[in-house]
Amino acid sequence: MRRILVATHNKGKLAEFAALLGPVGYEVVSAGELGLAEPEETGASFAENARIKARAAAMASGLPALADDSGLCVAALDGAPGIYSARFAAGDYPAAFAKVIAACEARDEWRARFVCALCYAQPAGDVATYIGQADGVIAKTPEGLGGFGYDPIFIPDGYAQSYAVLGADVKDKVSHRARAFAQLVSVLRG
Ligand code: IMP
Repeated sequence: MRRILVATHNKGKLAEFAALLGPVGYEVVSAGELGLAEPEETGASFAENARIKARAAAMASGLPALADDSGLCVAALDGAPGIYSARFAAGDYPAAFAKVIAACEARDEWRARFVCALCYAQPAGDVATYIGQADGVIAKTPEGLGGFGYDPIFIPDGYAQSYAVLGADVKDKVSHRARAFAQLVSVLRG
């Protein structure tokens, strides 16, 4: 098995990466396990932040490294919170849902998009970046308790309920992260 470093200290993300990469012949090692420091995310886009994390991990470990960066872009907020999605919520998701819904109501504009940038970096310096997007609308009230982050207020196109209600079966097929992963896996498979 080939080894690949996943540039995250988040156990949930690590498990997602491992489940995806195992069947393609990769053993996953985490940045946390190797005690690598997390670089500051100073980029101006999802792709730049993913690249910063993947390159730092590849250079520090000498292994090929994967990193992702993701977030929610709300039309009524002119694309915010975007790369600042975690900071916008600051741990209080119910308050963040209320702010997003109020902005959508004020403009009667409910479109939103989740974006995921996935970056694969080689220790020698080569990088490849894959972007996955999922369009949808903001729910008028939060729905469901499943998932994480903004899942209770995002209704993907083609469905009538939020990600938090629809669950992992649907999300794993249509989400921004699933779409970015699908591109990467087809490249790793060759
Ligand atoms: P990061 O990619 O770990 O920097 O996460 C960015 C933030 O975007 C998360 O903390 C969530 O607030 C939000 N986010 C990213 N992907 C999802 C998702 O699939 N569902 C809900 N929220 C998400």
